[in-house]
Amino acid sequence: MSENNCLFCRILAGEVPSTKVYEDDRTYAFTDINPQAPTHFLIVPKEHIESLNDVTKGDEPLLGHMLRLAPKLANQVGIAESGFRTIINTGEESGQSVSHLHLHVLGGRSMAWPPG
Ligand code: 5GP
Ligand code: ZN
Repeated sequence: MSENNCLFCRILAGEVPSTKVYEDDRTYAFTDINPQAPTHFLIVPKEHIESLNDVTKGDEPLLGHMLRLAPKLANQVGIAESGFRTIINTGEESGQSVSHLHLHVLGGRSMAWPPG
């Protein structure tokens, strides 16, 4: 299912260009347009799911798949050994700005904790 006015659905449809990192039948990964680290890409489900607040039990295999992809793709781009951060922002106070579930993967520099 796709939503016409959803930016990431439009990226998935090829209507908005993106730089592909990885693709399979359930997911697409692409570089973030405003990277916050030397490596910063997003893993998104091809199905339109607004946020973690909207996932169901039936989405558990998809979520597991997305999480497992993070180290696999991190390894492919050379940041697995040095370390990387995975983030899913959910809702307004978290800073979620695109209402299509996405897993950030960032690496290539030291990071602080706690996040801002
Ligand atoms: P959020 O703030 O919702 O957790 O993350 C949304 C991310 O999408 C941001 O890091 C932002 O830079 C990225 N983004 C927004 N618009 C585009 C776009 O058109 N193309 C790409 N590749 N990334 C985008
Ligand atoms: Zn969408």
